[in-house]
Amino acid sequence: MPSRSSAYLDLRDLTLRGGEHFERDYPLEMAPIILGGQRYDVLLPEGVTVTVDRVAGGSLVAVSTDATVYGPCSRCLREVVFKLRAEEQEFVPTSKEGWDVADLSAFVDDMVVDVSGIAQEAVVLGLPTLIVCREECPGLCSVCGKDLNEGPCGCPPLELDHRWAKLKDFAGDAPVSP
Ligand SMILES: [Zn+2]
Ligand SMILES: [Zn+2]
Repeated sequence: MPSRSSAYLDLRDLTLRGGEHFERDYPLEMAPIILGGQRYDVLLPEGVTVTVDRVAGGSLVAVSTDATVYGPCSRCLREVVFKLRAEEQEFVPTSKEGWDVADLSAFVDDMVVDVSGIAQEAVVLGLPTLIVCREECPGLCSVCGKDLNEGPCGCPPLELDHRWAKLKDFAGDAPVSP
C-alpha cells in the first residue's frame, strides 16, 4: 500500500443521499508528534478509515485509525512502543448559513475534508497524558543522570538540606555512632 502524507476527501464527489453511507481506507503517513520536547513517531500500518453518513442538514464524517507510536519514556528516555485507537467525528453542514465559523470544523474547507488533519488531531488527543515505559518507572537521577531502573546511584536524596550535606562531609569516613 503506497503511503502519502496527506489525504483529502471532497464530499461533493460522493453525491450521497439521505441515509446513505460511504466508507474508504486511505494509506497515510503521519508527521512525528512533538510532546514535552520529545519526538514521537507515528505509524499507521492499516492507514485510516473514513466514513461519511448523510444525515439531516449535512454529513457526519468519522476518521479512525490504529496507530503505533514510538518514542522516549518521559521519565527515563528509554524507547517506548505502544498502540492506540484514534477516532474523531466532524459534522459538515450542507450549507454554512446560520452556522458560526467557530462551530465548524477547522479541517473542512468548502466541503473538502482534510482527512490527514483530522487523523493527526485524533492521534494527538488519543495519546496518554504521560508516556512512560512502565507505571512505576523511577526515571533518571536529576543529579548524576543515571537510569534508576538499573538500580540506585548513590546520590544523596534530593530533599537533603545543604547544611546537612556539609556535616556529612566533615564526618568523612569515621564510623558513625548512633
Ligand atoms: Zn521509563
Ligand atoms: Zn544520582
